[in-house]
Amino acid sequence: ASPLSDRVLAMNESATIAMAKKCRELIAKGFDVINLSFGEPDFQTPQYIKDAAKQALDEGYTFYTPVPGIPELRQAICDKFKRDNQLDFLPNQIVVSTGAKQALANVVLSLVNPGDEVIVFSPYWVSYEEMVRLAEGTSVPLVGTLENDYKVTAAQLEAAITERTKLIMYSSPCNPTGAVFTRAELEEIAAVMSRHPQVYALADEIYEYINFVGEHVSLAQFPAVKDRVITVNGFSKGYAMTGWRLGYLAARPDIAAACDKMQSQITSGTCSITQRAGLAALRGGRTSADEMVEAYRRRRDLVLDIVKDIPGFKTPTPSGAFYIFPEVSAYFGRTAPDGSTIRNSLDLALYLLNDALVSAVSGEAFGAPECLRFSTAAADDKLVEAFRRVKASLAKL
Ligand code: PLP
Repeated sequence: ASPLSDRVLAMNESATIAMAKKCRELIAKGFDVINLSFGEPDFQTPQYIKDAAKQALDEGYTFYTPVPGIPELRQAICDKFKRDNQLDFLPNQIVVSTGAKQALANVVLSLVNPGDEVIVFSPYWVSYEEMVRLAEGTSVPLVGTLENDYKVTAAQLEAAITERTKLIMYSSPCNPTGAVFTRAELEEIAAVMSRHPQVYALADEIYEYINFVGEHVSLAQFPAVKDRVITVNGFSKGYAMTGWRLGYLAARPDIAAACDKMQSQITSGTCSITQRAGLAALRGGRTSADEMVEAYRRRRDLVLDIVKDIPGFKTPTPSGAFYIFPEVSAYFGRTAPDGSTIRNSLDLALYLLNDALVSAVSGEAFGAPECLRFSTAAADDKLVEAFRRVKASLAKL
């Protein structure tokens, strides 16, 4: 019998990480694979941020920090919320974590009891479902429609809420769809929440800066629900700092304190040097992010221009983040040159990996099995080459 716990046996490996692993294996064998499966900026962390880390190291800043983060960084995060989101928080409402991922896990584990329902706006980011499962909650995917750019509506939410509903979870800008909620849409969602006082919301805003439509709206901006919204953000995407592992949450003081306690028993918080780098990042404002966004916008347009001519791809125009998420079910049931049948998006992703040497992720892991996710965070010439190959491989089906 396996010595492993039911908990870990029930957990799925992250599909994006699994695909990246396959991709690395092919690359190690010498194949020229273009990896569009990872959600990672291809930019270097800006130099002024690296310099702050070097300085912290030279100063011997190598000791444990307070679990919820160093005071200067928590204050700088409050200043950021004020400047960018017109939100007032005090440092005791901020918990700095080992990436936004840990911030999300802290919140789910701190709020969800076994049997609580968590409404996950779908398509969703892969880890949401698994975190809810880990907390022994029941995840209730609520699926947006292609016609509405996959955005869940307030009416859908109202219909899905039960007396067991504890939490709703979403990302805006959305990974994987790139959809961005408007002020009017979030206002309606806040109105639904105010009719259901037992419902909390986890707003994942990690792609805040990667927004092509302009206005970023936080659900916490609506006063009637502010106390029941936990806002998560981080440095991985906006500052190209994935490897540094730095994210944070802002919440009502009792919820922040619970997340602090959770984190104190699991990681004791994130790296001291990373926190000093994050402090420099925030003090430097968002200029470096704005420069990257211009590149992401150009690449989005470049890719959309190619995929519009791929038959059977239905691709909403992303308003933010760095992915495209075409609906590809037109290819299901077709036969590959080797005689195998493409049954679903996983088969299609594997076919493209082997035939086009382009790696994408099946929408299955995002709650949208009829879709594929391609990252557009790669150099322009790589993207052009990748989608040229994808188009050629699909034409063989
Ligand atoms: N939330 C979303 C929607 C993401 O796409 C990601 C990273 O891919 C994260 C959270 C986690 O980011 P971090 O690197 O800060 O843990």
